[in-house]
Amino acid sequence: MFNKILIANRGEIACRVAATARRMAIKTVAVYSDADANAKHVSVCDESVYIGGSAPKDSYLRWERILEAAKASGAQAVHPGYGFLSENEEFAQACADAGLVFIGPLPSSIRAMGLKAESKQLMEKAGVPLVPGYHGSNQDDALLQREADGIGYPVLIKASAGGGGKGMRAVDKSEDFAAALASCKREAINSFGDDAVLIEKYVQRPRHIEIQVFGDTQGNYVYLFERDCSVQRRHQKVLEEAPAPGMTPEFRQQMGEAAVAAARAVNYVGAGTVEFIVEQKSDGSMIFFFMEMNTRLQVEHPVTEAITGQDLVEWQLRVASGEPLPLQQDQLRIHGHAIEARICAESPDNNFLPATGTLHVYGLPDCVSFVRCDNGVRVDSGVRQGDPISPFYDSMVAKLIVHGDTREQALSRLDTALAQTHIVGLNTNVQFLRHVTQSRSFAEANLDTALIPREEAVLFKQERVGLNLAVAGAIAHTLLEEQAVEASLAQRHVWLDPWARRDGWRSHGPSTRRFDFEFQGEVHTVQMTTLHDGALQLDVAGESGVFSFAPVTQGIDVRLGERRQIVSVYRKEAVAHVFTAQGATQIIAIDALAHAGDTQAEGGRLTAPMPGKVVSFAVKAGDTVTKGQTLAVMDAMKMEHTIAAPMDGVVAELLYAPGDQVTEGSELLKLVAA
Ligand code: ADP
Ligand code: ADP
Ligand code: MG
Repeated sequence: MFNKILIANRGEIACRVAATARRMAIKTVAVYSDADANAKHVSVCDESVYIGGSAPKDSYLRWERILEAAKASGAQAVHPGYGFLSENEEFAQACADAGLVFIGPLPSSIRAMGLKAESKQLMEKAGVPLVPGYHGSNQDDALLQREADGIGYPVLIKASAGGGGKGMRAVDKSEDFAAALASCKREAINSFGDDAVLIEKYVQRPRHIEIQVFGDTQGNYVYLFERDCSVQRRHQKVLEEAPAPGMTPEFRQQMGEAAVAAARAVNYVGAGTVEFIVEQKSDGSMIFFFMEMNTRLQVEHPVTEAITGQDLVEWQLRVASGEPLPLQQDQLRIHGHAIEARICAESPDNNFLPATGTLHVYGLPDCVSFVRCDNGVRVDSGVRQGDPISPFYDSMVAKLIVHGDTREQALSRLDTALAQTHIVGLNTNVQFLRHVTQSRSFAEANLDTALIPREEAVLFKQERVGLNLAVAGAIAHTLLEEQAVEASLAQRHVWLDPWARRDGWRSHGPSTRRFDFEFQGEVHTVQMTTLHDGALQLDVAGESGVFSFAPVTQGIDVRLGERRQIVSVYRKEAVAHVFTAQGATQIIAIDALAHAGDTQAEGGRLTAPMPGKVVSFAVKAGDTVTKGQTLAVMDAMKMEHTIAAPMDGVVAELLYAPGDQVTEGSELLKLVAA
């Protein structure tokens, strides 16, 4: 076994690989870019080497630099994680040439599975079922049209070199084929530098079911069962589970054996995943077809670890060091059910736009154990509270993995774990994930790749915490903070003027206090009255109730009238972030004086939310604008962002020109309040 490895990756996967290495007493070397100088993955490894600038092409993709780091540090092997260089055959070859073990398959296996069309030809020979279609090398437009007509519509045109959900076009009828082909080829040449395409029958209501396979250097193969990854947005996975609901032992064995045949056909060594698309017939039966093989460890490998009780990174290390597979097929069993949720920095309500910012609050559920997560919760995370989420890398912040005896139990555990995930500082998909898991389709395991569009009505723009509870939580938090301040003053023997006390103590009669809040864009006034017996009463939106609260370990135990809830509140300036068992919401304190001041102070500064390029300005100096009006458009993280006026005003000056590259926080234009 190795005694030192280099991890050529970052984020959660680098931390996850390091954890197994540490357990096996293998030393680890991290690599990092400028943006990651203080990243978690650096702190969990034994040594670290700086490899360059923040953009991946300047660091995590510079393989010469990574190989130098490996040699200089005395590492014997390189773990590539996923993404970056993990499926780069040249890198795998360069490792071997430098006398380092690449913890992954042979370069020839990566190459064989790299192109969709070629890999399909290989799979056809190996007897692995393929989606009916055309994957030949003749790319003549008229021939492709005839092939599509022969397959029957709808069809899917795919870029052979494509990946990550890009370069695909669904075509409903023969007349639309030529235009879709031209557009698919344009995108393919731009994104992948190769415009070869293949055509497949478009499978209706498909499920994405993949098989985890493993091979060793002695020619042994096993499959570690399946994962259902049908819940996707933009052809990217959101929730993954194992085993796949509705699987029969026979169907599992057929798929498992087909996956092993695929691996065997390319002399596969190490961890790999064979992705299948599964057609569901109206009579409930299923048919599977090979889609592609990912020649690396997959993001969603923890659900397989949870149901098999095996550490797949340990398996990778053992196989890479020449040991045989730890177990044979008949020694592998499925225990219970596991689900993984990918927590991403993004705005689901805004077309899943990626978000950047700082994790001011990063509260996660308590975890039980690392790999097995027996009837418990596992969190794989590459960040800590206070860390930035930068625009340079993937928007995935963490993975929550739950395990239960049954799917129902795992689902309920996931809901609780998501409710305990408290993130403040940037937008995330945590509430969206809760809505998906609570949706009827997911709860009933009615899975297919259209689940998100089908359940749209209950997934987006959902506010599940009512005004009363949000207000009661925010006020309770404020009062507790005030009490803490007073207690610390009292401890220091500061004399308190009884007339200035804000807890409602007066010599005569009840006292009231007024709070003004903004909730979901509406302003609300709330009265809090201290009654004669010392009890508090809240009047919110025409309803009044007795109000009390007490700090408890999980948050604040809040009672309002008949209702009682544990809530957690985090305040950042005027915004109180309220988390309850139902969900999360925000409530903004309005202080009339402070508000007027704020607008003035913030006035003129309109800054770039992230590094990027100015696409256009919609205004010029001297223009009068109203709040919400578009001022400029920026392009960052491969998406366009609109910069809107925060108030009514007059544009004083434009500070950049279209096409200019700007850094985060650069002032784009000056706006003077009207
Ligand atoms: P697929 O959806 O193709 O099956 P996975 O779900 O396993 O693939 O996700 C792998 C993807 O994760 C990569 O293709 C890449 O876009 C992204 N990625 C790459 N590097 C990292 C990283 N360090 N942290 C998070 N995500 C990454
Ligand atoms: P990528 O390399 O981008 O991951 P894949 O070939 O794995 O591309 O396909 C990505 C997703 O597109 C699948 O998970 C599935 O949701 C959908 N898809 C792929 N092929 C088909 C098909 N023939 N019919 C219907 N949907 C498909
Ligand atoms: Mg895929």
